[in-house]
Amino acid sequence: MTEAARRVPYTTNNAGIPVESDEHSLTVGPDGPILLQDHYLIEKMAQFNRERVPERVVHAKGAGAYGTFHVTNDVGQFTRADLFQPGKRTEMLARFSTVAGEQGSPDTWRDPRGFALKFYTEHGNYDLVGNNTPVFFVRDTIKFQDFIRSQKRHPVTGLRDNDMQWDFWTLSPESAHQVTWLMGDRGIPKTYRHMNGYGSHTYMWINGGGQRFWVKYHFTTDQGIEFLTQAEADELAGADADKHRRDLYESIESRNAPSWTLKVQVMPFEDAADYRFNPFDLTKVWPHGDYPLIEVGRMVLDKNPEDYFVHIEQAAFEPSNMVPGIGPSPDRMLLGRLFSYPDTHRYRIGPNYAQLPPNRPRSAVNSYAKDGPMRYVASDAARPYAPNSYGGPAADFRRFGDPAGWAAAGELVREAYRPHREDDDFGQAGTMVRAVLDDAARERLVANISGHLSQGVSRPVLDRAVQYWRAVDTDIGDRIAKEADGG
Ligand code: NDP
Repeated sequence: MTEAARRVPYTTNNAGIPVESDEHSLTVGPDGPILLQDHYLIEKMAQFNRERVPERVVHAKGAGAYGTFHVTNDVGQFTRADLFQPGKRTEMLARFSTVAGEQGSPDTWRDPRGFALKFYTEHGNYDLVGNNTPVFFVRDTIKFQDFIRSQKRHPVTGLRDNDMQWDFWTLSPESAHQVTWLMGDRGIPKTYRHMNGYGSHTYMWINGGGQRFWVKYHFTTDQGIEFLTQAEADELAGADADKHRRDLYESIESRNAPSWTLKVQVMPFEDAADYRFNPFDLTKVWPHGDYPLIEVGRMVLDKNPEDYFVHIEQAAFEPSNMVPGIGPSPDRMLLGRLFSYPDTHRYRIGPNYAQLPPNRPRSAVNSYAKDGPMRYVASDAARPYAPNSYGGPAADFRRFGDPAGWAAAGELVREAYRPHREDDDFGQAGTMVRAVLDDAARERLVANISGHLSQGVSRPVLDRAVQYWRAVDTDIGDRIAKEADGG
């Protein structure tokens, strides 16, 4: 035996028992049957059959890395959250993803990108589960499931279906701002490194004096925004379906660590009632001129996961993970997600997912939660109930209680948000087309929309789509009518 061979560890089964062979099953003579007592062979087959957890219903295809968030500016006047205090460094995990495609789908399909962050703070995990876009397609969480089904595969053909997509969008005019964004240049980022991230929802920040603010998060890419044209993306979808996952991994391996600068827009609590747009409507931005960006810090991703499945596939981000100093807002989409994310993790990974390496808080866990499948960290509560008189943990409202709420009273209703002065479905989309995009970008927008509409969209839906774009901008609508409809 060579020296090198001697240094290789011996193979064991999952119980640590040395195994005899990975070459030959145990048989009755060389030509005889395999025996049931070959427990190692049976373990190998059984383990293989259980290798997958269900893929995420949305955001199935992604990539991720570990890194650090470093505060560069003092925003302590707005929040007491420990991760945003001056000079603070916090370890973190990021996962980027496409939304509608499955695990094996190409990275370069036109789609919003997930931008999910987990900060391992002194007071537990803070998860900010955003996108590369500041807005979304719908504003009420009760429409989310229908929206996603319209983007996924047709139940009969098993194909993605542009007719379903435009049918839903044109019957849901609140989607116009996000669809304009999606069909524009930023709808296909060049890589995950070349896109911004947005918390998208409005959140609450609470400072040490108990004062409340509304806040929106913007992670601006330090690599610069770059995008792919539809033609470049189509080619890459065939040539390298894993382009963005590969790019992130290789950049970090070659010590080219990507970074983003976090900036926030802060709205005084009282402004919300009369602001010209409903500040909790996820289909709207707060124009920068109204609430300018304030720098907070920088996040750097410099460590690849040692095992993709363990650290990224099992990563469980949940908007309900909010630490002291941060709270929710009345954004209906956010409130729905507070339930939905932990619920899907319990189903997809299992009820004890919070104990797994990417999800395990780096701070103390003094929880009364107990037992359940695959639990492996013993509870150290000698009495598994609260209150108890045996020294078990006790909730500390004086230290951690936040006034993270707002006054709410009224009849039980099923109604749209109370409209603010300038609230409508098409205004901000129109602003983007006319004031943000240049001629060349508008040209590409028209080409992208017309190209999409010319693939399998039926007549009544096509007519509605032209009306929809005319409502965004008359000129754009006319041009789309001409290109997609032959006039
Ligand atoms: P500003 O001129 O201050 O901001 C325009 C912003 O548009 C830019 O800062 C940039 O956001 C973003 N942008 C530029 N090119 C594109 C593109 N091709 N696709 C998507 N976004 C792009 O104006 P306002 O703040 O008054 O916003 C005007 C419009 O800009 C909005 O209606 C909205 O559609 C869009 N927008 C606004 C954002 C905001 O938070 N105010 C954020 C993103 C878009 P960034 O700096 O984040 O890269």
